[in-house]
Amino acid sequence: MNLSKITIIALLIVVAIAVSMIVYYFYLKPTPVKKVLRVGTSPDFPPFEFINETTNEIVGIDIDLVKLIAKKIGYEVEIVPIDFDGLIPALQAGQIDLIASGMTITEERAKVVDFSIPYWEANQAIIVVRGGQFKPRGLEDLVGKTVGVQTGTTAEILITDYINKTNANIQVKSYSSYILATQDLLNGRLDAVIVDEPVAQALQRKYNVEISASIETGEKYGLAIKKGNAELLNAVNKALNEILNSQEWYDIISKYTG
Ligand code: GLN
Repeated sequence: MNLSKITIIALLIVVAIAVSMIVYYFYLKPTPVKKVLRVGTSPDFPPFEFINETTNEIVGIDIDLVKLIAKKIGYEVEIVPIDFDGLIPALQAGQIDLIASGMTITEERAKVVDFSIPYWEANQAIIVVRGGQFKPRGLEDLVGKTVGVQTGTTAEILITDYINKTNANIQVKSYSSYILATQDLLNGRLDAVIVDEPVAQALQRKYNVEISASIETGEKYGLAIKKGNAELLNAVNKALNEILNSQEWYDIISKYTG
């Protein structure tokens, strides 16, 4: 093999490497896509998350809030509807990245998920059919009655704790959704429903029901993130902090509460 042959081979190798690099960079290299934040929510909790009956879209305060947070931290939002009691398991299984579902920050839940800083405060309320005879003033007035709650909620915990403590004869029916519980109340299958007060107020505007009593529980809502994802949690908290002091936040609230 003489020198010119070696030069030609070396040249061919250099050209081949250059061509494959060009092909890789311009044709094969995956184009970076916008990161997606999969948000789990149980859309039966107006004004926080519910289905807009004309557009069939999931809307509400929580939805607008996470969209705003996602925009600030460079994500696109994908809303994943899941029954309330399935949200934490879905987060732990990695099917969603965040829960935005009017979820109360509790010690029990904080053992298995990380919560953002609080963004809302709420108490519980008892709702009944509007204009009916039955007007409970507190949990003690529910003795002998059938009461609806949503599975896995703080309302369910409140009433079962009360029954366990007092041995009260109260029948509790748990539903996969607060909308179904409200429908059973209207159908006469329930005497009352226990639900977060801001939601009771929204249900009162939409259905033939009314708030009969408030029960002070001083709950605070937080967004939930899989345990140990400090990077996402810090980013969410930083964005949330900015939003809670902004005009945009007031606009979102007034858009859904009138
Ligand atoms: N705030 C209540 C809870 O965390 C209810 C939430 C809901 O039903 N979406 O249990």
